[in-house]
Amino acid sequence: MDRTISVIYGKNIHDMTLRLLSSCDLQLPASGANASAVIKPNLVTPSGSDTGATTHTEIVEAIIIHLISLGFRNITVAEGSWVGASTESAFRALGYYDLRDRYGIHLVDTKKDEYRSLAPFGIPMEVSRTVLDADLLINVPVLKGHCQTLMTNAMKNLKGCLSDRSKREFHRLGLDLPIAALNSVIHPDLTIVDSICGDLDFEEGGNPVQTDRMLASAYPVLLDAYSATLMGYRPEDIGYIRKAQEIGLIEDFRWEVKELSKPVVSNARAGGEAKRLSVHTSPIDACSACYAALIHALKRLEDENGLGRLKGRTIAIGQGYSDKAPEIGVGACCRKAGTGVAGCPASADSILQMLRGL
Ligand code: SF4
Repeated sequence: MDRTISVIYGKNIHDMTLRLLSSCDLQLPASGANASAVIKPNLVTPSGSDTGATTHTEIVEAIIIHLISLGFRNITVAEGSWVGASTESAFRALGYYDLRDRYGIHLVDTKKDEYRSLAPFGIPMEVSRTVLDADLLINVPVLKGHCQTLMTNAMKNLKGCLSDRSKREFHRLGLDLPIAALNSVIHPDLTIVDSICGDLDFEEGGNPVQTDRMLASAYPVLLDAYSATLMGYRPEDIGYIRKAQEIGLIEDFRWEVKELSKPVVSNARAGGEAKRLSVHTSPIDACSACYAALIHALKRLEDENGLGRLKGRTIAIGQGYSDKAPEIGVGACCRKAGTGVAGCPASADSILQMLRGL
């Protein structure tokens, strides 16, 4: 099993996607140019990607360009928005009809697809035939918070391959086991995570946290386990990851991170609810990935009613602190801080441990 998780930081989404793709070993199957390649983004609602809700269209376009360069001629984008939202509206709002016309790809609304009825681990589900029959499947989720499952990313994004009836049934059955079971029947060849500005805690966006990062792996459960730590959780905190381990989709959570670039300084920070937490920070030239980790750690601290530990103090972060000695600091740049945590970028789970100790 390949335990590598590739991570890239930056501002040029198109180039970042192509670099991630060239670090992976994707090939045209023996069946040739007619082999079906399916891309599954997250278009939960017709919201812009800058809200933190949906996959950046630039990522999907770069994947299409890469697949065409490999010889694929039968490329489909397949997605079904959440119950109550129109997938066609999302396709229109996010530029997918333009992609269709420019590159000759197909668009499939999985709400209207043909289904195969399956029942893995006793969970009934109607799964899109387009997705199940793909010769190559690339999952392109957004890493973001979720009001019920805490986090949504690679594994949960596959819920968009179901009929609306099955989506409702998943909620009735409690989501965790259904999501794990779904991942026992859909096996993406590659997952590319849009962690550019995923929402702090809502699937539908509105509280984006600028992170300027993307991830890639062939192993969705491991990718989700690692991604949980980027939001200040342990893998076991996420119910559907726990269930995935219980039903044998993963044995342990050992990953190997391969960084393709270093984090970038950004002044774009956080919006909506996420902005509220920024009053506890004092950034000077902070990289977005480091700052996002701090925001997620502060959110976890708030969830456990721990913000009082700060006693009105703010947390230093950023390259502007490399010759300063703040009281509390985050990341290698704040190595002279009285209380600090290492890392470049610092991870949300290690920041949370430090904050709990204040
Ligand atoms: S430690 Fe400093 S250089 Fe490294 S990611 Fe954080 S802010 Fe950027």
